[in-house]
Amino acid sequence: MADGLLGPAEIRELAARLGVAPTKKLGQNFLHDPNTIRRIVATAGLRPEDVALEVGPGLGSLTLGLAGAVRHVHAVEIDPTLAAALPETVAAAHLTVHPADALKVTGDRFDPAPTMLVANLPYNVAVPVVLHLLAELPTLRGGLVMVQKEVADRLVAGPGSKVYGIPSVKLAWYAAARPAGKVPPAVFWPVPNVDSGLVAFTRHDPPAGATRSDVFAVVDAAFAQRRKTLRAALAGWAGGAANAEQVLKAAGVNPQARGESLTVGEFAAIAAAAKTSER
Ligand code: SAM
Repeated sequence: MADGLLGPAEIRELAARLGVAPTKKLGQNFLHDPNTIRRIVATAGLRPEDVALEVGPGLGSLTLGLAGAVRHVHAVEIDPTLAAALPETVAAAHLTVHPADALKVTGDRFDPAPTMLVANLPYNVAVPVVLHLLAELPTLRGGLVMVQKEVADRLVAGPGSKVYGIPSVKLAWYAAARPAGKVPPAVFWPVPNVDSGLVAFTRHDPPAGATRSDVFAVVDAAFAQRRKTLRAALAGWAGGAANAEQVLKAAGVNPQARGESLTVGEFAAIAAAAKTSER
């Protein structure tokens, strides 16, 4: 490839040389289409001074694209064979490979501090990885992630949408998310049996008045019984339906509404009202 990106022949050769047999368990579907890599890098809105964090670099397809666009790349890879081979594929002084589970990494291991998350995520852990990294790395100003199309739809959904749920509200706590395009199965090896979608997000300040864990507890309770009114769904959380009704009214939320119609700001108002009523 003219710009050094990996095409189908290079991916096949690399996998054969390393003896890599992709596993479903680790969501190993590798990109082998330079046009998709260029598209992801261009859509991510990277600045030359950015520090990119990539989860699951795999054989290095996207890592190569990122290395050409930013001042530093951190690549977190759980598969030791892939992590060990990466510096050979992406021979760049501004790459740090972290052989680690992205769900367990803490912010102190990254120097320089990451500013953008750009990743073709392992699909089975995509949502927890994004939420964990946004919580753990306050320096992240945004990112672009590729996930299964249905998950992308959920992450960008707003109140009132059929697919609005826990991932949508929790991501909205940290960031404003928007759909950034669809990616067909044919650009991966092996070919997955699902479509993929890109989600772009920009960090914003969380709603004031309540802690993240208090707000997330309300969100979890409200969506655990999605079809119930908030008065009923929050009864267990509030210590009874009457208490739930009182808290909801104090928060300015209709007790007959359902969680699927509430913004993250309204969930925060409920958590704040519950704290006030405890005093
Ligand atoms: N970025 C590469 C690409 O686009 O070709 C590979 C993407 S593949 C969908 C997902 C990658 O994430 C695999 O390399 C897999 O080994 C890695 N992975 C899976 N679970 C992980 C985890 N918990 N932490 C870090 N990496 C993980």
